[in-house]
Amino acid sequence: MFNYIIVGSGFAGSVLAERIANILNKKVLVIEKRNHIGGNCYDYRDKTGIIVHKYGPHIFHTNYKEVWDYVSNFTDWRIYYHKVLAFVDGQKIPIPFNLNSIYQIFSPSLANKLEQKLLNKYKYGSKIPILELKKTEDQDLKFLANYIYNKVFLNYTLKQWGKRPEELDPEVTARVPIVISKEERYFQEKYQGVPEEGYTQIFQKMLSHPNIKILLNTDFRELIRLDWKFRKIYFMGQEFKGLLIFTGMIDELFDYKFGILPYRSLDLHFEIIEKEYFQEVAVVNYPNDYDFTRITEFKHIHPIKTNKTVILKEFPKDYDPERDIPYYPFFDKAAREVYAKYQELAERFDHLILVGRLAEYRYYDMDDVIIRSLEVFEERIR
Ligand code: FAD
Ligand code: UDP
Repeated sequence: MFNYIIVGSGFAGSVLAERIANILNKKVLVIEKRNHIGGNCYDYRDKTGIIVHKYGPHIFHTNYKEVWDYVSNFTDWRIYYHKVLAFVDGQKIPIPFNLNSIYQIFSPSLANKLEQKLLNKYKYGSKIPILELKKTEDQDLKFLANYIYNKVFLNYTLKQWGKRPEELDPEVTARVPIVISKEERYFQEKYQGVPEEGYTQIFQKMLSHPNIKILLNTDFRELIRLDWKFRKIYFMGQEFKGLLIFTGMIDELFDYKFGILPYRSLDLHFEIIEKEYFQEVAVVNYPNDYDFTRITEFKHIHPIKTNKTVILKEFPKDYDPERDIPYYPFFDKAAREVYAKYQELAERFDHLILVGRLAEYRYYDMDDVIIRSLEVFEERIR
């Protein structure tokens, strides 16, 4: 019946289902364990009428024109530049940490000195990861780097990951570099925005095609079995000779044969507040106070006129495979080695493709997942 089975209906699964249905005109079955499509990008209007992101704030940002053009087939955009402040020593300072943050914190003469030193060393507009800035020899810049490290990165990272910044892959903290300019947008990519009517309607448009059948509330393990000795895939007890595209967790696919891959998870607490606005911008980070890392106020992302507002607090925690959602892959050296074993096993199957944040065990943003899925379609499926 189906030439293609896709596990997962996040961006990885949905882009591939849409391409196969539209471009190849072939039938696809999408298996999704949740009661909705969209993966972690799922959003909805809650009872206040405000669009909220069920699995944490999602802002679209990309330099890939191809990705922007592709997603634009399914939505109009609200052009939106994400702003983040961090609560540090009683005041809210702009993040990414930039020249304005320096002037807000230090006396004008010290701020001026630090600005000059930064501009002597780095080109205006450059972006320096905190772990890079910390290596500087200059005493004043060292003072600045230590200040930023201690006040902005250290405790936030301990909360978020249970590790210090230098224990993580340097790319994690480099996502939020020190910006040597007055640029206050959180993301610096060319294309930025949020879908006018939210993300869920993008997935609805991608997946509403006569060639696509979606099974919600279904764990793939109820229907699919892999025989890794004979490299065969079984669907409902019969050998499946089509292509299986898997966007869930690679360790689960192989029954945790080489052990569980580590993730960080979150407890997400939504609150309705009886006032028009709660905070100045969409996200305020709390590196040093409270157990949560940040508060998101969705009304800044999707404005609407109401006298209520919805906020979200994110409490990071260890991941328990029995109960939790694997939000962030935690890829240290040991985890990468385990992942490599799973990947090697997956490559033995001719009719299996792994795509997405969970299946590839990468800290992908939405645009990374979409470009990967479009590439996989062109190179391995079309
Ligand atoms: P997912 O969206 O996770 O989809 C995987 C799907 O597979 C899920 O629907 C899941 O239910 C399903 N599945 C898993 N196991 C099974 C099973 N056993 N059986 C059946 N189905 C299964 N990116 C940005 O670009 N901008 C942002 O601002 C941003 N903010 C983020 C904030 C948070 C808190 C988090 C966690 C991520 C954020 N991201 C952001 C990243 C973004 O969420 C991911 O890049 C994207 O959702 C990955 O898509 P995916 O299809 O690979 O995975
Ligand atoms: N980070 C930090 N303090 C901040 C913001 C970010 O220490 O105020 C670090 C932290 O380690 C975090 C990483 O930078 O996990 C990446 O931040 P980003 O905002 O990209 O995380 P995400 O939105 O993916 O949760």
